[in-house]
Amino acid sequence: MTTRSAIQEESYLYPWQKGLFHELTQHQIPHSLLLFGQKDIGKLKFGLELANYLLCESSDQKPCGVCEACHWIKQGSHPDLFIVLPQNLRHLLPFEIENDADLDDADEKKQSKVIRIEQIRHVISSNELGSYRGGKRVVLIYPIESMQIEAANCLLKTLEEPSSKLHFILITHQLERILPTIRSRCLLFSMPKPPVNEAISWLSTQLPDRWTTPLLAQRLSLHSGAPLKVMASINDKALDESIITNQLAKFKSLHTGEIIDLLSQHSILEILNCILKWSFDMNLVLFGQQVRYFPQFEAKMKSSCLAMNKIHFQQFLSSLKDDLRLANHPLFPKVQLEAVLMKYTQLFK
Ligand SMILES: [Zn+2]
Repeated sequence: MTTRSAIQEESYLYPWQKGLFHELTQHQIPHSLLLFGQKDIGKLKFGLELANYLLCESSDQKPCGVCEACHWIKQGSHPDLFIVLPQNLRHLLPFEIENDADLDDADEKKQSKVIRIEQIRHVISSNELGSYRGGKRVVLIYPIESMQIEAANCLLKTLEEPSSKLHFILITHQLERILPTIRSRCLLFSMPKPPVNEAISWLSTQLPDRWTTPLLAQRLSLHSGAPLKVMASINDKALDESIITNQLAKFKSLHTGEIIDLLSQHSILEILNCILKWSFDMNLVLFGQQVRYFPQFEAKMKSSCLAMNKIHFQQFLSSLKDDLRLANHPLFPKVQLEAVLMKYTQLFK
Protein backbone atom coordinates (compact mmCIF):
# COMPACT_ATOMS: atom_id res chain seq x y z
CA MET A 1 0.00 0.00 0.00
CA THR A 2 1.21 3.49 -0.82
CA THR A 3 2.00 5.70 2.13
CA ARG A 4 1.18 9.37 2.42
CA SER A 5 4.81 10.49 2.28
CA ALA A 6 5.39 8.55 -0.91
CA ILE A 7 2.28 10.13 -2.36
CA GLN A 8 3.41 13.64 -1.59
CA GLU A 9 6.55 12.95 -3.54
CA GLU A 10 4.37 12.05 -6.47
CA SER A 11 2.81 15.50 -6.49
CA TYR A 12 2.95 17.29 -9.81
CA LEU A 13 4.12 20.47 -8.11
CA TYR A 14 7.61 21.85 -8.42
CA PRO A 15 9.14 22.93 -5.12
CA TRP A 16 8.68 26.62 -5.87
CA GLN A 17 4.93 26.14 -6.39
CA LYS A 18 3.96 24.64 -3.07
CA GLY A 19 3.27 27.96 -1.32
CA LEU A 20 1.31 29.23 -4.28
CA PHE A 21 -0.78 26.07 -4.44
CA HIS A 22 -1.55 26.31 -0.76
CA GLU A 23 -2.55 29.94 -1.21
CA LEU A 24 -4.93 29.11 -4.06
CA THR A 25 -6.56 26.15 -2.38
CA GLN A 26 -7.22 28.03 0.85
CA HIS A 27 -10.32 29.42 -0.79
CA GLN A 28 -13.03 27.98 -2.95
CA ILE A 29 -11.69 27.39 -6.45
CA PRO A 30 -13.59 29.51 -8.98
CA HIS A 31 -15.27 27.74 -11.87
CA SER A 32 -13.16 29.49 -14.47
CA LEU A 33 -9.56 30.05 -13.55
CA LEU A 34 -6.92 31.56 -15.80
CA LEU A 35 -3.35 30.79 -14.75
CA PHE A 36 -0.87 33.11 -16.41
CA GLY A 37 2.87 33.51 -16.31
CA GLN A 38 6.09 33.09 -18.21
CA LYS A 39 6.69 29.98 -20.29
CA ASP A 40 8.60 26.98 -18.86
CA ILE A 41 8.09 27.64 -15.17
CA GLY A 42 5.75 24.69 -14.57
CA LYS A 43 2.23 26.05 -15.11
CA LEU A 44 0.97 22.85 -16.78
CA LYS A 45 1.97 20.68 -13.81
CA PHE A 46 0.43 23.23 -11.47
CA GLY A 47 -2.81 22.97 -13.47
CA LEU A 48 -2.70 19.17 -13.27
CA GLU A 49 -2.23 19.27 -9.52
CA LEU A 50 -5.17 21.61 -9.26
CA ALA A 51 -7.31 19.32 -11.41
CA ASN A 52 -6.27 16.46 -9.15
CA TYR A 53 -7.21 18.54 -6.13
CA LEU A 54 -10.66 19.27 -7.56
CA LEU A 55 -11.38 15.67 -8.53
CA CYS A 56 -9.90 13.89 -5.50
CA GLU A 57 -12.63 12.11 -3.57
CA SER A 58 -10.95 12.12 -0.20
CA SER A 59 -12.64 13.99 2.61
CA ASP A 60 -9.26 14.72 4.14
CA GLN A 61 -6.17 16.31 2.61
CA LYS A 62 -6.41 16.72 -1.16
CA PRO A 63 -5.12 15.43 -3.45
CA CYS A 64 -4.83 12.29 -1.32
CA GLY A 65 -3.08 10.15 -3.93
CA VAL A 66 -4.85 6.96 -2.82
CA CYS A 67 -8.49 7.31 -3.79
CA GLU A 68 -9.79 5.91 -7.05
CA ALA A 69 -10.01 9.36 -8.62
CA CYS A 70 -6.38 10.19 -7.78
CA HIS A 71 -5.31 6.85 -9.19
CA TRP A 72 -7.11 7.48 -12.47
CA ILE A 73 -5.64 10.93 -12.78
CA LYS A 74 -2.10 9.59 -12.42
CA GLN A 75 -2.93 7.13 -15.21
CA GLY A 76 -4.38 9.89 -17.37
CA SER A 77 -7.71 8.06 -17.52
CA HIS A 78 -10.07 9.96 -15.22
CA PRO A 79 -13.36 10.16 -17.16
CA ASP A 80 -14.19 13.60 -15.77
CA LEU A 81 -10.87 15.22 -16.57
CA PHE A 82 -10.48 16.73 -20.03
CA ILE A 83 -7.05 17.91 -21.05
CA VAL A 84 -6.95 19.92 -24.23
CA LEU A 85 -3.64 20.84 -25.77
CA PRO A 86 -2.12 21.01 -29.24
CA GLN A 87 -0.90 17.68 -30.59
CA ASN A 88 2.70 18.82 -30.60
CA LEU A 89 2.64 19.46 -26.84
CA ARG A 90 1.27 16.09 -25.74
CA HIS A 91 4.74 14.95 -24.75
CA LEU A 92 4.67 17.49 -21.90
CA LEU A 93 2.08 15.43 -20.06
CA PRO A 94 3.25 12.80 -17.59
CA PHE A 95 0.79 10.30 -19.10
CA GLU A 96 -0.95 9.43 -22.34
CA ILE A 97 -4.39 10.92 -22.80
CA GLU A 98 -7.31 9.28 -24.54
CA ASN A 99 -10.22 11.64 -24.05
CA ASP A 100 -9.23 14.05 -26.78
CA ALA A 101 -11.27 14.47 -29.95
CA ASP A 102 -11.05 11.53 -32.25
CA LEU A 103 -8.18 12.23 -34.56
CA ASP A 104 -7.36 10.86 -37.92
CA ASP A 105 -3.89 9.58 -38.53
CA ALA A 106 -3.02 12.47 -40.76
CA ASP A 107 0.48 13.63 -39.87
CA GLU A 108 -0.49 17.27 -39.96
CA LYS A 109 -3.00 16.67 -37.19
CA LYS A 110 -0.50 14.71 -35.16
CA GLN A 111 1.87 17.62 -35.27
CA SER A 112 -0.73 20.33 -34.99
CA LYS A 113 0.44 23.36 -33.04
CA VAL A 114 -3.07 24.69 -32.52
CA ILE A 115 -6.10 23.72 -30.49
CA ARG A 116 -8.78 23.01 -33.07
CA ILE A 117 -12.47 23.64 -32.74
CA GLU A 118 -13.11 19.88 -32.87
CA GLN A 119 -11.16 19.47 -29.66
CA ILE A 120 -13.25 22.07 -27.83
CA ARG A 121 -16.52 20.72 -29.31
CA HIS A 122 -15.60 17.24 -28.16
CA VAL A 123 -15.12 18.48 -24.59
CA ILE A 124 -18.36 20.42 -24.59
CA SER A 125 -20.47 17.62 -26.03
CA SER A 126 -18.97 15.16 -23.53
CA ASN A 127 -19.90 17.50 -20.73
CA GLU A 128 -23.50 17.54 -21.80
CA LEU A 129 -23.64 13.88 -20.83
CA GLY A 130 -22.92 14.77 -17.21
CA SER A 131 -20.28 13.56 -14.80
CA TYR A 132 -19.26 9.89 -14.70
CA ARG A 133 -18.42 9.99 -11.03
CA GLY A 134 -21.32 12.22 -10.07
CA GLY A 135 -18.94 14.93 -8.90
CA LYS A 136 -16.98 17.68 -10.53
CA ARG A 137 -15.64 17.74 -14.06
CA VAL A 138 -12.50 19.59 -14.99
CA VAL A 139 -11.40 20.96 -18.33
CA LEU A 140 -7.75 21.97 -18.53
CA ILE A 141 -6.66 23.89 -21.63
CA TYR A 142 -2.98 24.56 -22.31
CA PRO A 143 -1.98 27.06 -23.57
CA ILE A 144 -5.17 28.84 -24.50
CA GLU A 145 -3.45 31.20 -26.94
CA SER A 146 -3.06 28.18 -29.25
CA MET A 147 -6.82 27.95 -29.68
CA GLN A 148 -8.00 28.77 -33.16
CA ILE A 149 -10.44 31.67 -33.16
CA GLU A 150 -13.42 29.39 -33.79
CA ALA A 151 -12.29 27.22 -30.88
CA ALA A 152 -12.03 30.28 -28.64
CA ASN A 153 -15.53 31.40 -29.59
CA CYS A 154 -16.89 27.95 -28.93
CA LEU A 155 -15.26 27.90 -25.50
CA LEU A 156 -16.61 31.35 -24.77
CA LYS A 157 -20.18 30.16 -25.11
CA THR A 158 -19.61 27.56 -22.42
CA LEU A 159 -17.85 30.02 -20.13
CA GLU A 160 -20.87 32.31 -20.45
CA GLU A 161 -23.18 29.62 -19.16
CA PRO A 162 -21.24 28.07 -16.30
CA SER A 163 -22.55 24.89 -14.80
CA SER A 164 -22.07 24.30 -11.11
CA LYS A 165 -19.99 21.17 -11.37
CA LEU A 166 -17.81 22.14 -14.29
CA HIS A 167 -14.38 23.71 -13.70
CA PHE A 168 -12.16 25.31 -16.30
CA ILE A 169 -8.43 25.61 -15.72
CA LEU A 170 -7.10 27.76 -18.52
CA ILE A 171 -3.37 28.36 -18.83
CA THR A 172 -1.54 31.00 -20.82
CA HIS A 173 1.99 32.23 -21.37
CA GLN A 174 0.70 35.40 -23.02
CA LEU A 175 -2.12 37.00 -21.12
CA GLU A 176 -2.14 39.99 -23.46
CA ARG A 177 -3.14 37.72 -26.36
CA ILE A 178 -6.24 36.34 -24.65
CA LEU A 179 -9.63 37.64 -25.78
CA PRO A 180 -10.94 40.16 -23.24
CA THR A 181 -14.26 38.31 -23.32
CA ILE A 182 -12.51 35.18 -22.05
CA ARG A 183 -10.37 37.03 -19.52
CA SER A 184 -13.34 38.81 -18.03
CA ARG A 185 -15.07 35.51 -17.30
CA CYS A 186 -12.17 34.04 -15.38
CA LEU A 187 -10.39 34.62 -12.14
CA LEU A 188 -6.84 35.57 -13.14
CA PHE A 189 -4.13 33.91 -11.09
CA SER A 190 -0.54 35.06 -11.60
CA MET A 191 2.23 32.47 -11.55
CA PRO A 192 5.57 34.16 -10.92
CA LYS A 193 8.84 32.65 -12.04
CA PRO A 194 10.69 30.82 -9.25
CA PRO A 195 13.25 32.61 -7.08
CA VAL A 196 16.73 32.03 -8.55
CA ASN A 197 18.01 30.07 -5.55
CA GLU A 198 15.02 27.71 -5.61
CA ALA A 199 15.32 27.17 -9.34
CA ILE A 200 19.04 26.40 -9.02
CA SER A 201 18.56 24.04 -6.12
CA TRP A 202 15.88 22.13 -8.06
CA LEU A 203 18.02 22.02 -11.22
CA SER A 204 20.96 20.68 -9.24
CA THR A 205 18.82 17.73 -8.12
CA GLN A 206 17.95 16.94 -11.75
CA LEU A 207 21.40 17.16 -13.28
CA PRO A 208 24.84 15.58 -12.82
CA ASP A 209 27.33 17.19 -10.42
CA ARG A 210 29.27 18.85 -13.19
CA TRP A 211 26.40 21.34 -13.37
CA THR A 212 27.75 23.58 -10.68
CA THR A 213 25.85 26.48 -9.13
CA PRO A 214 27.62 29.16 -11.23
CA LEU A 215 26.95 27.16 -14.40
CA LEU A 216 23.29 26.80 -13.53
CA ALA A 217 22.98 30.46 -12.59
CA GLN A 218 24.42 31.38 -15.94
CA ARG A 219 22.07 29.05 -17.81
CA LEU A 220 19.11 30.29 -15.85
CA SER A 221 19.82 33.90 -16.69
CA LEU A 222 20.31 32.91 -20.34
CA HIS A 223 16.79 31.47 -20.29
CA SER A 224 15.06 34.32 -18.43
CA GLY A 225 14.85 32.43 -15.16
CA ALA A 226 12.76 29.56 -16.58
CA PRO A 227 14.08 26.30 -15.08
CA LEU A 228 12.20 23.97 -17.45
CA LYS A 229 13.73 25.79 -20.39
CA VAL A 230 17.15 25.22 -18.86
CA MET A 231 16.41 21.49 -18.55
CA ALA A 232 15.18 21.32 -22.13
CA SER A 233 18.22 23.16 -23.46
CA ILE A 234 20.55 20.81 -21.60
CA ASN A 235 18.72 17.68 -22.68
CA ASP A 236 18.59 18.85 -26.26
CA LYS A 237 22.15 19.88 -26.66
CA ALA A 238 24.63 18.40 -24.26
CA LEU A 239 28.04 19.86 -24.95
CA ASP A 240 30.06 17.48 -27.09
CA GLU A 241 33.37 17.80 -25.29
CA SER A 242 35.15 15.79 -27.96
CA ILE A 243 34.88 18.77 -30.31
CA ILE A 244 36.98 20.75 -27.85
CA THR A 245 39.40 18.02 -26.83
CA ASN A 246 40.12 16.96 -30.40
CA GLN A 247 41.25 20.49 -31.07
CA LEU A 248 43.17 20.93 -27.82
CA ALA A 249 45.04 17.72 -28.68
CA LYS A 250 46.47 19.51 -31.70
CA PHE A 251 48.28 21.83 -29.27
CA LYS A 252 49.98 24.63 -31.19
CA SER A 253 48.19 23.66 -34.42
CA LEU A 254 44.74 24.06 -32.87
CA HIS A 255 42.03 25.63 -35.04
CA THR A 256 39.88 27.94 -32.97
CA GLY A 257 36.88 27.98 -35.37
CA GLU A 258 35.21 24.74 -34.32
CA ILE A 259 35.42 25.63 -30.64
CA ILE A 260 34.24 29.21 -31.20
CA ASP A 261 31.23 27.84 -33.13
CA LEU A 262 30.09 26.04 -29.99
CA LEU A 263 29.20 29.44 -28.53
CA SER A 264 26.09 29.49 -30.69
CA GLN A 265 24.59 26.71 -28.56
CA HIS A 266 26.58 26.69 -25.34
CA SER A 267 27.74 29.13 -22.75
CA ILE A 268 31.38 30.13 -22.56
CA LEU A 269 31.33 28.79 -19.03
CA GLU A 270 30.69 25.23 -20.26
CA ILE A 271 33.44 25.51 -22.84
CA LEU A 272 35.96 27.00 -20.41
CA ASN A 273 35.08 24.27 -17.93
CA CYS A 274 36.07 21.67 -20.47
CA ILE A 275 39.32 23.51 -21.24
CA LEU A 276 40.01 23.70 -17.51
CA LYS A 277 39.53 19.95 -17.10
CA TRP A 278 41.91 19.42 -19.98
CA SER A 279 44.44 21.74 -18.37
CA PHE A 280 44.12 19.96 -15.04
CA ASP A 281 45.00 16.74 -16.83
CA MET A 282 48.03 18.40 -18.38
CA ASN A 283 49.08 19.63 -14.98
CA LEU A 284 48.82 16.09 -13.59
CA VAL A 285 50.99 14.85 -16.44
CA LEU A 286 53.56 17.54 -15.65
CA PHE A 287 53.77 16.23 -12.10
CA GLY A 288 54.11 12.66 -13.29
CA GLN A 289 50.61 11.64 -12.23
CA GLN A 290 47.79 9.89 -14.01
CA VAL A 291 45.26 12.06 -15.83
CA ARG A 292 41.77 12.29 -14.46
CA TYR A 293 39.37 13.40 -17.18
CA PHE A 294 40.70 12.45 -20.60
CA PRO A 295 42.78 9.26 -20.33
CA GLN A 296 42.54 8.66 -24.07
CA PHE A 297 44.79 11.68 -24.58
CA GLU A 298 47.33 10.91 -21.85
CA ALA A 299 50.09 9.77 -24.19
CA LYS A 300 49.67 12.81 -26.41
CA MET A 301 49.74 15.10 -23.40
CA LYS A 302 52.96 13.52 -22.15
CA SER A 303 54.79 14.18 -25.39
CA SER A 304 53.47 17.73 -25.68
CA CYS A 305 54.47 18.62 -22.15
CA LEU A 306 58.13 18.32 -23.15
CA ALA A 307 57.65 21.13 -25.66
CA MET A 308 55.81 23.36 -23.23
CA ASN A 309 56.97 26.35 -21.25
CA LYS A 310 56.13 25.19 -17.72
CA ILE A 311 56.06 28.63 -16.11
CA HIS A 312 53.78 29.94 -18.81
CA PHE A 313 51.56 26.92 -18.30
CA GLN A 314 51.08 27.70 -14.60
CA GLN A 315 50.23 31.30 -15.53
CA PHE A 316 47.80 30.02 -18.15
CA LEU A 317 46.12 27.74 -15.64
CA SER A 318 45.65 30.49 -13.10
CA SER A 319 44.36 32.97 -15.68
CA LEU A 320 41.92 30.31 -16.90
CA LYS A 321 40.52 29.99 -13.40
CA ASP A 322 40.12 33.78 -13.32
CA ASP A 323 38.33 33.69 -16.66
CA LEU A 324 35.93 31.10 -15.30
CA ARG A 325 35.14 33.24 -12.29
CA LEU A 326 34.38 36.18 -14.56
CA ALA A 327 32.50 34.19 -17.17
CA ASN A 328 29.08 34.38 -15.51
CA HIS A 329 28.13 37.44 -17.49
CA PRO A 330 30.68 37.86 -20.25
CA LEU A 331 30.20 40.85 -22.52
CA PHE A 332 32.24 39.43 -25.34
CA PRO A 333 32.36 35.65 -24.99
CA LYS A 334 33.84 35.16 -28.45
CA VAL A 335 36.71 37.58 -27.80
CA GLN A 336 37.31 36.04 -24.39
CA LEU A 337 37.34 32.49 -25.73
CA GLU A 338 39.62 33.42 -28.62
CA ALA A 339 42.08 34.98 -26.17
CA VAL A 340 42.13 31.81 -24.05
CA LEU A 341 42.75 29.60 -27.08
CA MET A 342 45.46 31.91 -28.35
CA LYS A 343 47.26 31.74 -25.00
CA TYR A 344 46.92 27.97 -25.11
CA THR A 345 48.59 27.60 -28.52
CA GLN A 346 51.42 29.91 -27.45
CA LEU A 347 52.37 27.51 -24.67
CA PHE A 348 53.80 25.14 -27.23
CA LYS A 349 55.86 27.54 -29.29
ZN1 LIG B 1 -7.66 11.38 -3.84
